[in-house]
Amino acid sequence: MKNLDKIIDGKYYADKLLKKVHPLCENFFLKFNRKICLAVILVGEDPASRVYVKNKLLTAEKNNIKSIEIILPTETSEDELHKEIVSLNEDMTVDGILVQLPLPKHISEKNVINSIDPNKDVDGFHPINFGKLYMGNPNFIPCTPLGCLYVIKNELKQITGKHAVIIGRSNIVGKPMASLLLSSNCTVTIAHSKTKNLKEHCIRADILIAAVGCPEMIDDTYVKKDAIVVDVGINRLEPSEENKKSKLVGDVNFTKVINKVKKITPVPGGVGPMTIACLMHNTVKAAYKNEGQNFIDILEGYL
Ligand code: NAD
Repeated sequence: MKNLDKIIDGKYYADKLLKKVHPLCENFFLKFNRKICLAVILVGEDPASRVYVKNKLLTAEKNNIKSIEIILPTETSEDELHKEIVSLNEDMTVDGILVQLPLPKHISEKNVINSIDPNKDVDGFHPINFGKLYMGNPNFIPCTPLGCLYVIKNELKQITGKHAVIIGRSNIVGKPMASLLLSSNCTVTIAHSKTKNLKEHCIRADILIAAVGCPEMIDDTYVKKDAIVVDVGINRLEPSEENKKSKLVGDVNFTKVINKVKKITPVPGGVGPMTIACLMHNTVKAAYKNEGQNFIDILEGYL
């Protein structure tokens, strides 16, 4: 196989999913005489967060989803943020609520997530949604792991019995990813910053998922031949003598592993677009449920 054929095109898969999401948005408008509505709250000036929010809102607009963007200054108190969320919870015309993370240090992310109505929690971070996922009865599933699962299941028609190793144990990526793969009958290993002999675990993975936030730390010595590698990491490398411009890289050293893998997601253009497509999916699901409709989940077959 040529190396080019090994690259998993996240944009292709995102478009494939959005093609199914789009008509649901159109039908919703015809049926309920209003657009599906996603509210996004951004607190502070983090440049990466601004880019992520902008991309989410652009995709919403393209899919006929109305968005409400609430930008609050860094010094916003937890109480003020809480009030904004309560007001969105109570607004029947708002279907989904997303608070862009990370939040400034003085605000408890846990308290903020807990205050979002679980039925509008399109990020899937609320403890009720998290618990349901772990019980094997998911409602809203965190967008990044959901996107990864969609890609993996499209690439590998049979994943039962595969050994998946996830590097990272965050509530946003690592843990929900583990739960999804476990429900898909994989044997799952979760590695983290305190794992001993990380390489020995990774080298046994049929499916290797890197969600660390450490630029290009995974090279070919961590990867089994013909493994599927999903690189979740997004790291910005500042300009140097070698590279005059700043650039985005993943947690995987793409150049070193490409010869060894069966398939790999690139950064950028891999997991990122799928995360946004899954957010649109979750928002549509929230909207139909908000109107008391029985929503037939278009991702049902992937869970
Ligand atoms: P996090 O900081 O919450 O978690 C990182 C995890 O990596 C931790 O569980 C930690 O134990 C583990 N870790 C750190 N150093 C390690 C080491 N040396 N060896 C093994 N494990 C180690 O980060 P997160 O929110 O889970 O995000 C991880 C990465 O994914 C970041 O780069 C983030 O930007 C990216 N991300 C991308 C998307 C996307 O849409 N593509 C979405 C979410 C996060």
